[in-house]
Amino acid sequence: QRAAEEAERGKPAVTRDGHRVEIAANVNRADQVAFALAQGGEGVGLMRTEFLFLERGDSPSEDEQVAAYRAMAEALGERPLIVRALDIGGDKQVPHLDLPREENPFLGVRGARLLLRRPDLLEPQLRALYRAAKDGGDLSIMFPMITSAHELIDLRRRCEAIRAEFEAPQVPIGIMIEVPAAAIQAASLAAHADFFSIGTNDLTQYTLAIDRQNPELAGDADSLHPAVLRMIAMTVEGAKAHGRWVGVCGGIAGDPFGAALLVGLGVNELSMTPRDIPAVKARLRASDRSELVELAARALAAEGAADVHALDGGAA
Ligand code: PEP
Ligand code: MG
Repeated sequence: QRAAEEAERGKPAVTRDGHRVEIAANVNRADQVAFALAQGGEGVGLMRTEFLFLERGDSPSEDEQVAAYRAMAEALGERPLIVRALDIGGDKQVPHLDLPREENPFLGVRGARLLLRRPDLLEPQLRALYRAAKDGGDLSIMFPMITSAHELIDLRRRCEAIRAEFEAPQVPIGIMIEVPAAAIQAASLAAHADFFSIGTNDLTQYTLAIDRQNPELAGDADSLHPAVLRMIAMTVEGAKAHGRWVGVCGGIAGDPFGAALLVGLGVNELSMTPRDIPAVKARLRASDRSELVELAARALAAEGAADVHALDGGAA
């Protein structure tokens, strides 16, 4: 099995009936790109930029950020790079930013909510991203924790102002779908977003009302719960209404059975930890899309996560 997986790495994830799925890697640093490509990654679907802030005691300057984004783009050549704007708050606290303490940080000022309140964080990052985009590569910007269209409209306006200032090329602007409100209103968000990437880690936490870090409930925080799958199905439907593509960059994208289900639900791109890529590719290449669509329909109709897991090993 291991040898078979290795042989599959360099090949695209095309199902037996000819349906192609993009396979990308979740990578935060340029020096990890070579490994991701060797595992069969076709680009970076999620660069979590908060790590530029978390790994040190202060914030990186605009120039330091430009260097980090350029290095990623250079390591990738013409392959896609999706850089996620700072997602701070919730489980990602940055001590040196001295943000106000919150009773319930997961429901507080995190992700896009923080970016909109803190131009001193947002603007240097956007300037750095557009400066890096001027040097070529296939860069996209993605905003985390979007709940309503007005947030995205506001962020797009700020992007455009900075892009114009630098006479930089336009780059695709996408959003994470990780709040149930965003999944439910996917069609209206898709009118303003160039693409979606579903953050199933947070989407699961917010759909099931389970703290993603609570060890007592870890077994219940299951992204294959039919309620989460319905959120994903809604997101795909909303995106398709506007001809947008949909990725998944949460942990479930790196699980072979999860990936099979996601493709059956109509997801176009999967971004995962590099070491998970070979097994996911092998699973998809051994599947028929038509079977995955049936599998997804059965999963959506299931009563609970355990019933969904019981479908593994079946037709797909
Ligand atoms: C997610 O929520 O699924 C996600 C990919 O973002 P993060 O894990 O960084 O919150
Ligand atoms: Mg998230």
